[in-house]
Amino acid sequence: MMMMFVQVRGQIEEGNLDSLPDLHATSAGLKAISAEISNNGIEVCRMACGGHGYSQASGLPHLYVNYVPANTYEGENTVLFLQTARYLNKLYSSGQPMSALPTNVCYLATDYPGHASCGVRSVDQLSDPHLQLEAFRQRARRMVGVASSAYQRALGRGLTQPQAWNSTTVDWTVAAKAHCYYVVLKSFNDAIEAKGLSPANDVIMRKLCSLYAMYWMVQSSGEFMTDGYMTPYHISLARSLLYSLLAEVRKEAVPLVDAFDVPDEILNSALGRYDGDVYTHLYQWAQRAPRNKKKVHDVYHKYFKKLLKPKL
Ligand SMILES: Cc1cc2nc3c(=O)[nH]c(=O)nc-3n(C[C@H](O)[C@H](O)[C@H](O)COP(=O)(O)OP(=O)(O)OC[C@H]3O[C@@H](n4cnc5c(N)ncnc54)[C@H](O)[C@@H]3O)c2cc1C
Repeated sequence: MMMMFVQVRGQIEEGNLDSLPDLHATSAGLKAISAEISNNGIEVCRMACGGHGYSQASGLPHLYVNYVPANTYEGENTVLFLQTARYLNKLYSSGQPMSALPTNVCYLATDYPGHASCGVRSVDQLSDPHLQLEAFRQRARRMVGVASSAYQRALGRGLTQPQAWNSTTVDWTVAAKAHCYYVVLKSFNDAIEAKGLSPANDVIMRKLCSLYAMYWMVQSSGEFMTDGYMTPYHISLARSLLYSLLAEVRKEAVPLVDAFDVPDEILNSALGRYDGDVYTHLYQWAQRAPRNKKKVHDVYHKYFKKLLKPKL
């Protein structure tokens, strides 16, 4: 994505604004999808820590409160997804060939060579990044097609364009998300291919990329099966691959998070610890709280003692 922004900035500086619609649609959708995924992810982490996740000592409530408005500010997510959708609708109905469309959206072209079935027969085959990418492309094309048909039907019923659009925005939001998930997967794959990573980093990045693909394939399995391109059998393969990837990535989870080099002051968590010794640390954390400075709080002597031990 970074490469795309640099490229477009160069074109704008030369007075060429042709890539702006693609940049606008892509950045709008990616803002929305990244805010949505990170916010939902924080909540999943909180729940995974049980009751302790709700404690301020986990650092998660603070993180959640800070990040959740990102769904709303700097572009409300649904409004942004619909910006992306307008662009997809325009291209899909324009009837252009692949050669005329930007790379990220060339799957909307009239001459796009779609396939009736993904043809995958094993977990090993499904590990192929090209097959994964093709599945995401097919699903995005199908979801845009579903929204577009609904929109055309609404126009056919005599609705004006804004009315037809408003009556189909749920389908268009689904289509925009499907497109964004595809763009992220494509960019992830492109970055791995282009970066010349060390062998060890290459292995883990490919696993993470595959994990991203399988997680969202299983989460949105209905969309992948809408037109029969994937079947329940393919989704069961995706689920198997997902579970084995989770087990493998788990071993690298701590180093992967540490790679972001988040300082302890920002992490501010009694639970996010390399040594896993969370209970000792939670106890120490509680002892540092001002109200725990004395073994018995003043409030006890002032109010409760009288009630609990009344003078006879
Ligand atoms: C913590 C926080 C900090 C903020 N800081 C700033 C700031 O510093 N400066 C600033 O200028 N603003 C700021 N804002 C305001 C923010 O930019 C707006 O809240 C945001 O743009 C959404 O606009 P809105 O509140 O009018 O909601 P609306 O646009 O009215 O949205 C309400 C609901 O309607 C839906 N909706 C709206 N339009 C459509 C449509 N066409 N089709 C389908 N559904 C639709 C939305 O998805 C949403 O669910 C802040 C907001 C928050 C929460």
